[in-house]
Order: sequence, then structure tokens, then C-alpha cells
Amino acid sequence: MKTLVINCGSSSLKYQLIDMETENSLVQGLVERIGIEGSILTQKVEGKDKYIIKEAMPNHKAAIRLVLEALVNEDHGVIKSMDEISAVGHRVVHGGEKYSHSVIINDTVLDSIRECISLAPLHNPPNIVGIEACMELMPNTPMVAVFDTAFHQTMPKEAYICPLPYELYEKYGIRKYGFHGTSHKYVSQKVAEVMGKDIKDLKIITCHLGNGCSLAAVKAGKSIDTSMGFTPLAGVMMGTRSGSIDPSVISFLSEQHGYKISDIDELLNKKSGVLGISGVSSDFRDVIDAADKGNERAKLALDIFHYKVRAQIAAYAGIMGGVDVIVFTAGIGENSSLTRKECLNGLEFLGFNIDDEKNAIRGEIQEISTKDSKVKVYEIPTNEELMIARDTVKLINK
Ligand code: ADP
Repeated sequence: MKTLVINCGSSSLKYQLIDMETENSLVQGLVERIGIEGSILTQKVEGKDKYIIKEAMPNHKAAIRLVLEALVNEDHGVIKSMDEISAVGHRVVHGGEKYSHSVIINDTVLDSIRECISLAPLHNPPNIVGIEACMELMPNTPMVAVFDTAFHQTMPKEAYICPLPYELYEKYGIRKYGFHGTSHKYVSQKVAEVMGKDIKDLKIITCHLGNGCSLAAVKAGKSIDTSMGFTPLAGVMMGTRSGSIDPSVISFLSEQHGYKISDIDELLNKKSGVLGISGVSSDFRDVIDAADKGNERAKLALDIFHYKVRAQIAAYAGIMGGVDVIVFTAGIGENSSLTRKECLNGLEFLGFNIDDEKNAIRGEIQEISTKDSKVKVYEIPTNEELMIARDTVKLINK
């Protein structure tokens, strides 16, 4: 049984074909510049040369048609016909309050995803376009939607209701939803498996540190709090996003200095965070390099980032009444030993010490706390695509 996983952005599309008997990813592909001049598809298959198609892709349907062609390509593909794809799993960013689990897609589900557009205006529309294009091109293949928000639907009210007039929640759905749920779910389950423990017995703090960053407090396998909020702008500082700040900054900039709301939105989402402080880059590798060379603002950006993550870890240990394991994942969390060490610096009182030799290893499942640590620390590469494929298979086999 082979499952195609699709993650559609506004002008890009990531895909994987996963063999669910072995859970091996057979193909990883990326289509960029959909609807823009210079569209390009890059497909990787183990043991084969990279397959690159440069061809006009005016829309997502054209992109998905080429993806399907690339998958069955005699020289570069891995399947003989599209019939070998038994299901498609779609990443959908926002499921609102409606979806606490993945679902088989039908017209009603598509309508509900459309209803959530106002909550995720940048993300849900391309997700819908991707689903519709696949449904047209593969009308007989079952499709499943896996929501970034679903895992966090177990949060209690005190975690997700914003301290605003309650009618804003009732009228407009303003509350904390949380994101990166598929990743937090995957790494929390994986760490329990690696430790040989029942997840029901664990208090886990998962730190997803990539371009976007969020932490989650996972108690007995359920998300009970997470740092992103109504949108993925809230929480800890990120590559280009500010994370949570005093909201009065917005009216101050607008009223005192004439900033337009749309400009402030762009400033908070695209020009703040590590990029805004350092003035160097949003990419951690560049900022770490600059800090090493003595750039004070790059060093300050990293110091603030570590401070914010450290404070969030401490808060989650607090609300769970302790912690058994802390997990680092995503681009920065999996790769940067400096970030892991600094985000934990000062938190040893929780009951761990870091083994520097193990912490130097990157991109692998690795316990990085010392053997005698009461609280464990792990790096676990995330695998959102596998989680999506697992949910997809589970649902269509029901
Ligand atoms: P996305 O959220 O887009 O999926 P990723 O999870 O791939 O992003 O994370 C991207 C981030 O990971 C970038 O800031 C990049 O600099 C960082 N990163 C990747 N490799 C390393 C490394 N070796 N050291 C530090 N940061 C790294």
C-alpha cells in the first residue's frame, strides 16, 4: 500500500510517496514557483539521480499532474501506474474547533475547511486548491485531511481561551488553536517508543524549532498547552516572526508613527524575530556564524531566542507539575547543538545534565542527557509526512 502525502503552499508543493508496509519514503519531491515564471519540480529517489522538470505550471492542478507523471516516469519514477497510489493524505493547516482528528475528505469536509479560511487566510486556500486538484486528477482515490491544529484540540479552556471579552471567542472564534500539531504528536509518540514507556505515563515537552517555532506540553499523550496561538505568530521568537509581544506596540506604531496595519502585520511576521534583531538573516546557520565572528546583534538575537525557549520550557514543566522528557526537533532543534544546549542552560535543576559528546551528534534520534539524568532530553527528527500517511491509512482501512 503506497500513500501519497501532499503539502500545498501558495506557490509551492512538497510531496512524498510512502510505502506503508515498511514506512519507507520512496520519493521526496518539491515543486516551486507554481503560477510564477520559472516553475520547477525536483524529485529525489534513493539510488537515482535527481529528476528536475522545468516546465510552465500555471496552477496547482498543472503541478500535481506533473508530480503524478514524475512518479510513474520510467527512468526516474518508482511506480508503474497511478493505481498503485491507494490514498492521498493532505496537510491542512487549520481545522478550527471542528477537527480534533484527521478525516476522510468529502464535500462537507471541504466546506468546513473553506469555513476556516478566515482563520488561516494564507494557508487554507492553497491547501484546498491542492485537494481539489488531486480530486480531479484521481477521482477514485480516497483523500484524507490531516490538520496542524488537531492535536492541540485537547487543550483545556484555561489554556486556549484568550483573556478578552468572551463574546469575541463566541462570535469570531478568537482563541488559541496552536500549530505544528502533527510534528508535536509524532515526536512525542516517538520519544515514548524510544524510551520503551507508555506515553500515558509521561510528561513531555516538545520543542519544534524550525523557521516557525513552537513548544507543546504533552501530558499522557495529549497536548495540554502550546505556544503558538490564534495564529502561528504567537509564542517564542522565530526566524522572522516576533512571537508574543505587548499588543500595545501595534496601536503605538499606528497612532504615534503612522504605520499601516498591513505594514505592521508584515513587520511582525516577516521582519522581526532573529532576522529583525540580528539584521543578518533569519537562517540560524548564518546568525550563529555571524555571532561566532563577533557580531553583537547576532549574539543578542540568539541570546533572546534561547531565553524565550528556556522560559517556555520552565513554564510547561510548571503547569504539568514536572517533566519526564524534553524533545528537540525540526531544522534548528535537530541540527544545532548550540541551540539545544543554550535553551536548556540553567534548567538543570529540573533534573538533567547534558552529555556534550552526544549533543554534538545531529539529525539522529539521540538521547543527549547523561545516563544518570532523572529527566531525559532527546533530539528526534520530526516526520510529519509519515504521521500524515499513518492517519490516512488508518482512516481508509476503517
Ligand atoms: P521549516 O519550518 O520551514 O520546515 P526547518 O524545520 O527546515 O524549517 O528549519 C529551518 C531552520 O533550521 C533554519 O533556520 C536553518 O538555519 C536551521 N538549520 C538547519 N541546519 C542547521 C544547523 N546545522 N545548525 C543550525 N541551524 C540549522
